[in-house]
Amino acid sequence: MLFSEIIGQEKAKRFFKRVISEERLPHAYLFTGIPGIGKTRAARALTMALNCRAPADLDGCGSCPSCRQMLGGNFPDFIYIKPDGQNIKIEQIRDLNRRLSFAPVSAKHRVCVLQQAEAMTVEAANSFLKTLEEPPPGNILILNAVEPLDLLPTIVSRCQRVPFQPLPVQAMTDWLIKEKDIDSQTAIIVAKASGGSLGRALKMSEDVFLEKRREWVSGLLKLPRLSKGEALQMAVESTAKDKRGGPDGSKSGEPGLLEMLAVWGYWYRDLLLMKAAGQTRLIMNVDFSDKLQILAKSSKIENLIDSLFAVDKAIKDLRRMRNSTLVMEHVLLTLQRLAGYYS
Ligand SMILES: [Zn+2]
Repeated sequence: MLFSEIIGQEKAKRFFKRVISEERLPHAYLFTGIPGIGKTRAARALTMALNCRAPADLDGCGSCPSCRQMLGGNFPDFIYIKPDGQNIKIEQIRDLNRRLSFAPVSAKHRVCVLQQAEAMTVEAANSFLKTLEEPPPGNILILNAVEPLDLLPTIVSRCQRVPFQPLPVQAMTDWLIKEKDIDSQTAIIVAKASGGSLGRALKMSEDVFLEKRREWVSGLLKLPRLSKGEALQMAVESTAKDKRGGPDGSKSGEPGLLEMLAVWGYWYRDLLLMKAAGQTRLIMNVDFSDKLQILAKSSKIENLIDSLFAVDKAIKDLRRMRNSTLVMEHVLLTLQRLAGYYS
């Protein structure tokens, strides 16, 4: 894994370049950002570059023994810890502390990644604190988390923070077309719906998401013709389906409420683009462009803006773990009312 293969994250890459060229390395890092934007890949690239016999520019050479082991996934001094079920448990941290107390097998720098560090139980986090403050020599600790706020302040303050950003749609689209041979229409749809996460975009391109997206758009199109009772029923049904995986379907592997709302958000953005700019080149729902054109003509711009706000608010509310049935009822009734003007 090379830094040059990671899309975007220029600021983080500049930081790593400085770190690699300096003698004195910080020993604990906190990589923050949504899943699927290159945090673990960067940890692997950093491990490779730090232990390479002949690093070139920022990256490892790819052919020395340690680079080859890293590329083959059998480098003994790269430790990867992820939640066991819901949490990173105290036993996992105790085991890690034990492993770290022995010298690295062969490398100059042993790297240990804690994936979803926010999933550490309080006991696990407390047991980890001392290690984090003063890891045995030769060890680098990398914590991956979405938000620093989800971690104990005592953990955050002991780490050098490296923020990772959601990826730009265009860069993702280009990469999906070029590297994964995905057709441009699909690439645009999944890049936009993924919210800047390449991992999620890739998954969406492979699974039932594309089929679901058509269902979700059809549901939205039906909304103005439903009675209020039917709209409420729709809210209950969409929430019930979601109960299996939680609102963030990416965790369970199934598309969830958040993805449905993201698709709806883009639907209104598309309508606004067509309404305001007569623009069809930038829309996400390219396969619905005829329908969008007709709807854009008959909709009021302020209703489209209000609809988009309503969807964005629902996304935020779901992220804050508000009651998902209430959130869905509210957003569906709002969208229905606003759509009433153009039905
Ligand atoms: Zn090398």
